[in-house]
Amino acid sequence: MTTFSEVEAWRMLEASGAYLRGHFLLTTGRHSDQFFLLSRLSERPDWLWVWARALAERLEPFGVRTVVGPAVGGIIPAFAVASCWPGSRMLFAEKDTRGGMSFRRGFAISPGEAVVVVEDAVTTGKSVAAVIAAVEGAGGEVRAVGAWVDRSQDGPAFRPPLVALLKADVPHWSPDACPLCRQGVPLSRPKGPTEALR
Ligand SMILES: [Zn+2]
Repeated sequence: MTTFSEVEAWRMLEASGAYLRGHFLLTTGRHSDQFFLLSRLSERPDWLWVWARALAERLEPFGVRTVVGPAVGGIIPAFAVASCWPGSRMLFAEKDTRGGMSFRRGFAISPGEAVVVVEDAVTTGKSVAAVIAAVEGAGGEVRAVGAWVDRSQDGPAFRPPLVALLKADVPHWSPDACPLCRQGVPLSRPKGPTEALR
C-alpha cells in the first residue's frame, strides 16, 4: 500500500495554489475563508501522481478498468488514475447543449461495461450525476466515483459510492453574517474558473 498522508496532501494543495485561505466572494454571493482551484494541483504532476496512485489503490476493489472523467476538471484526474492500471481505458464526457454530459470525439461505452467516474472535487455531484446518466444511457454501469476531494455537504447527488482522498467542510456565510467582514478583512474574488460552492 502506498501511504497517503492527509497532512502532506493539504500541504501540496496549498503549495500548488489549489487551496487558498483568506476571505473570498463566491459565485453564489456568499463569503468563505477557503477556496479551491483544484486544477492547479496539475501544475505539479509529480505531486499529482501521489494522489493518483492513492486513489487508484482505493478504487482497486471495484475491479473496474474503464475510467471516465467529466471535462474539464475530471480529465487529468481520470487519466492519472487510469494510468496506474495497466490495460485500462480512459475517456471523458463533455457538457452538451441539453444541460447534461455526452460522449463525443468517438468515445463510447459498451453495453454492460463497468466504469468508475473520477473527478477532481465533488461538491453537489451534479456533473458526476450527469456523467453517470450518460454511462447508463449507453448501457454501462458506474460502480464507484473517485475524487481528490469530497466537498459535498448533504451527501452527493448520485447513488454509487464516493471514494475521496480528502474531505473538506468549507464554511460559507451570507455577507451580513460573515465573521471576516466583521473583522474588516479585505474581500477578494479568486481569479480563474471558480470552484465556488455550487
Ligand atoms: Zn465576508
